[in-house]
Amino acid sequence: MINYDTFYIQCPKCGAWLEGHIVKSEMVNKSILYSDGKTLNDNYITEPQKIIACPSCSHWFWVDEYKEPVVTNKKPETPYYNWNHWRFFGIHFNSVEGRVALVNHYKQYLQAIDNDRDKELYIRRLMWWAYNDLVRNNYQMHLPYLFSGKMSFNVWRKNRKKQIQGRQMFHKLHDEYLENMKALLLLLKGRYTPDDEEYEASILEIIELYREMREYEEAQRILNTIPRRTHYIANIEKEVRRKHDFVFLVAG
Ligand SMILES: [Zn+2]
Repeated sequence: MINYDTFYIQCPKCGAWLEGHIVKSEMVNKSILYSDGKTLNDNYITEPQKIIACPSCSHWFWVDEYKEPVVTNKKPETPYYNWNHWRFFGIHFNSVEGRVALVNHYKQYLQAIDNDRDKELYIRRLMWWAYNDLVRNNYQMHLPYLFSGKMSFNVWRKNRKKQIQGRQMFHKLHDEYLENMKALLLLLKGRYTPDDEEYEASILEIIELYREMREYEEAQRILNTIPRRTHYIANIEKEVRRKHDFVFLVAG
């Protein structure tokens, strides 16, 4: 079953064509949500990739919205690059090195946005997620996950080794990870008012940032101002009380 739409986009510099996918929201089988807001639908990240680096000429450009005339569903007549060539800048996530390379891409793009706060917010949020990717699935290295039968023992053991490497790298990069979160917090604070659609989501994001920065009191203080308790908020609060600072799986 094909649950995504195919689109094509052309590099404005060299004219190369790139092929991409967008998951059809009505056909999603499995949705995964993490505490930092990263969401995967059938393993596709729901956040659109707004920065595209051309695999042919390395030129990179922004695409704010995936709609015509920038993207088209008409298949080009010339050969095109498939998604793996340019999605996440051609990085493969099967290694810790690949994950660090993604962080480094975002650092580079951050240098070239001329104080554009919308772009900075976009990059810093994805960079935050990229750091968290190093430890995102740490729950898989614990025994209950092995006993759940989702992985064979050999796969689990190999995966566990990778999780441990990711954790070591995460600790090594912890200062710059904190620095990025501080900057992200500054961008989010006061950005929205209660009338904005994004307001509630931004408050939850701010709470999660404080939790991951180990500023549990501040996280709790803001939590106390929120009257309702969704599954997501209740889980964040539980981790704030436990003084746990890692990203975690909320649902999926
Ligand atoms: Zn190009």
